[in-house]
Amino acid sequence: MLHILVVDQGGALLDQLTALAGDAALYRFESVTVEEAYASLQQRRGDLLLVDDQAGECTGIALLHRCATELAMVVPLIYCTNSIDKEMIDAAFAAGATDVLRLKGMSADLFGRSLCYALEQVRQRLRTNSMLRTIIDLVPGMIYVKDRDGRFLLANQATAEFYGTSVSQIIGTNQAYWHRDVDEFALFQEQDRKVIDHHEHIEGMIDQLTTPDGVCHILETSKIPLSFFDGNVPAVLGISRDITENRRLQKAQTMVMAALDAAADAVVITALDGTIEYVNLAFERMTGYSAAEAIGQTPRILKSGHQDTAFYREMWKILLAGETFRAVITNRRKDGLLFEAEETITPVYDEHNHMVAFVAVERDVTEKKKAEQALRSSEERFSLAAEGSNDGLWDWDIVNDQVYVSPRVYAMVGRDETSGAIRTAADFFDLLAAADGQSGLLKRINRHLNGLTEYFSHECKISSEDGKKIRWLQARGIARRDEAGHAIRMAGSLTDITVFKQSEKELVEQSLRDPLTGLANRKMFMNHLTSAIHASDVHGDYQAAVLYIGINRMKELRTSMGDTLGDRLISKVARRIRDCTRPSDVFAYVHSGEFAMLLPKVQSQHAAEIMATRIDKAMGRPFRESAQQIKVSTSIGITMIDHSSSRVPEYVLRDAALAQSEARKRSQQYSLFDQRMHDAALQRIQLESELDDAIAGHQFQLYLQPIMDLQHEVIAGFEALIRWMHHDRGMISPAEFIPVAEETGQIIEIGKWVLRQAFQQLCKWHGMGGVRSDLYISINLSPLQLADEATLQLIYQLLEQAPFPPSHLRIEITESAILEDAEYTRSLLGKLHECGSRLYLDDFGTGYSSLSYLHSFPFDVLKVDQSFTFKIDSDPATRKITESIIQLGTHLGMKVVAEGVETEAHRNVLIGMGCHYGQGYLFSKPLPPEQAETFIDTSRLHVAGQGYADKP
Ligand code: C2E
Ligand code: MG
Ligand code: MG
Repeated sequence: MLHILVVDQGGALLDQLTALAGDAALYRFESVTVEEAYASLQQRRGDLLLVDDQAGECTGIALLHRCATELAMVVPLIYCTNSIDKEMIDAAFAAGATDVLRLKGMSADLFGRSLCYALEQVRQRLRTNSMLRTIIDLVPGMIYVKDRDGRFLLANQATAEFYGTSVSQIIGTNQAYWHRDVDEFALFQEQDRKVIDHHEHIEGMIDQLTTPDGVCHILETSKIPLSFFDGNVPAVLGISRDITENRRLQKAQTMVMAALDAAADAVVITALDGTIEYVNLAFERMTGYSAAEAIGQTPRILKSGHQDTAFYREMWKILLAGETFRAVITNRRKDGLLFEAEETITPVYDEHNHMVAFVAVERDVTEKKKAEQALRSSEERFSLAAEGSNDGLWDWDIVNDQVYVSPRVYAMVGRDETSGAIRTAADFFDLLAAADGQSGLLKRINRHLNGLTEYFSHECKISSEDGKKIRWLQARGIARRDEAGHAIRMAGSLTDITVFKQSEKELVEQSLRDPLTGLANRKMFMNHLTSAIHASDVHGDYQAAVLYIGINRMKELRTSMGDTLGDRLISKVARRIRDCTRPSDVFAYVHSGEFAMLLPKVQSQHAAEIMATRIDKAMGRPFRESAQQIKVSTSIGITMIDHSSSRVPEYVLRDAALAQSEARKRSQQYSLFDQRMHDAALQRIQLESELDDAIAGHQFQLYLQPIMDLQHEVIAGFEALIRWMHHDRGMISPAEFIPVAEETGQIIEIGKWVLRQAFQQLCKWHGMGGVRSDLYISINLSPLQLADEATLQLIYQLLEQAPFPPSHLRIEITESAILEDAEYTRSLLGKLHECGSRLYLDDFGTGYSSLSYLHSFPFDVLKVDQSFTFKIDSDPATRKITESIIQLGTHLGMKVVAEGVETEAHRNVLIGMGCHYGQGYLFSKPLPPEQAETFIDTSRLHVAGQGYADKP
């Protein structure tokens, strides 16, 4: 049964329908107002709605329109009229009528079919609507229809979801309700009205819209006007797509692309089959292929042939297993050049974790490889050099403060490479500087870094951990600088100079030691002396003593013992003296047969005197040498170091030596230095220089002292004795200046002068004839003169030229002179003797030689020293000795002259002893030649006519 709602006026239509329907079982009619019909249909009551053309005050069409609008066309809406006016019928359809029925004259059958048709049509439309609804709900974009005021007439699911609501909720609401921003809505409404009023079409417009949840969306919208929508209401159909995410992705993609193009590394995206889909700018640069050329190709375009198939098989295996492949590949550019690429290929997965592509990142490492190769070669060279060299090598990257040291360095500085790695400048240089215990190294490095030196070099001393072993290292280095001159790198070496240092030390030690005695030498002694003087500078009350110890008669001992035994004796003496010292004393061998001793920190000179006595005592026992007992004595000079003494070490030692020579001269155990000694020494120096002037300025005179024949009381001859007529000091005795001249060698020139003078005198006397032509003159010859070849030649020459017999020029030589070099002297004297000269042994008794020993020398005359003559009348012992000397001399065939005959008593005793000749003040002092000649003439002792030729 069809439930038919009927909207009419006064029930006329209902009656008419009831009559027409016939079979009441088929239909149920219900008369309703429009409102009632709406309510029924809302409750899904009623299958059809029939509207009478006479219904209400308004025309039936208006009513129809209202029904169509408000009842949403869910049931067939049939307009019942008896009119056949076509315009009116069209108007009914336009107003929404499903069908228009003219009930008048209609059969029940036709009525029934018409209703069925209408029902079918509505059903059909509902089905279509539902289908469309489903379609528009399925569409991902928003589809909506709005009227001119912005009310939603239609909205699909996407639209509802966009606004966060349901379709049913949104339909009928105004868009303004869903907008957060009033201005945004106004903009949309303006758009919509443009579309509706002006039939404008909007396509792909981008809008921004903020939903109630505050999220801002970007929409792409197209809009068209709708004039045919329900009830012909002017509306706008909009289709919008939320492209917010798209835009974000698009932006991100743009950025990624820009980043890829900016990247230095080439990026290639390939499909799984290897087809290139994307390349960046770096790829174009690196390979020479443009993106257009590369895309669609495969990476095989870069193939160089340097990788074999096994390589690519392995690559695909790794990639298809989903892993990243990394390798350095040799590729070929479009222009044929090869390049090395460090390649990383990574599979790309989609959201379903399906592998979809590969991304390859390639880096051109040709230069890097070359640099690596160069570095490797240079490193190899460096390490070869480091291995091959005995030196340690180091390299300091100053900019990054990285230090590399070769393994040899670790060995040198005693470090373990693993536990004590050296990596920074501080590690290395502080280690050296700290071990060295000084900052000299760092100072030198800094000076070099600051450009003050061309390189740096420093010697460091490193001791082992237990401090027992010391190693000397020489660190050298040179810096590399940048254009601004700043040091950026420094490299250098470490050389082990321990052996060198040791031998250097030994050399230094050797140079400070005397090889004969093993004692400190003069140099080392002077170093200690300097320290002592310094100590007295610093501490006002500091005192030290210096002893100069000379072995007496060392020259003679040496001569008689020979050099080897002499040296041995000196060593023994050194040991004995050393045994007298304390550990703090410094004992040195400073000169032949002479020692120096420093007693530091003494209270007074008394300590030095005690030491001198101790040394003297130590010499008390004789030394045993080759079964001989040798008696040794010393003379010691003492000087003190204190605040008032000399500051010059050489002067201090000189003062001690002066005191020693004073002690020797005076035959004292020791002598303390005093200023007079120094003054005397100074005078001597003065004398030296004045002697030069004397030689040049003819200040000498040759005096003659007669030698008397005691037995016959006549003049036998003269001894020539030199005199110096000093312009200030008057006459200076040869006893004063001859020793100086002997020391300085000036005696040679002086001696030649004496020789010539004596020769002239003899020539003169010879020319005068008579007594004078028989007289002889003896001259004194010093050892130095005897050893002088020129002097000897002069003597030979004079004797050869002499108009007088050669025996008239006689030569006196002191005993000590012949001891210097006995054999040599013997041969020289032999030669002189052969030339006819007579030889005198002068000052006999002052030396230590035995007469029998002297007998081997060709002496003709023995001169007994005046020290004997002086005591000859007072001292019986001397008298005895003198007598035996005279006797022995005579016995050996020599004549004897007594020197220093001053008194008659002397003369008488001598005559009594059988002495042949006498010389002394008793007869005459030495006289100038003229006076000597007068002496000859006036001598009452002279006996005219007595011959002298056979005299000695
Ligand atoms: P001498 O050769 O032993 O000479 C003897 C010295 O005794 C001389 O001293 C002489 O003046 C001194 N004399 C002589 N009679 C007496 C006396 O009765 N009593 C005292 N007290 N003295 C007496 P003089 O002239 O001073 O010479 C000293 C020494 O100088 C010499 O000792 C001699 O060794 C050396 N001398 C002198 N002239 C020369 C010279 O021309 N050449 C060299 N090489 N030495 C010379
Ligand atoms: Mg003499
Ligand atoms: Mg003499």
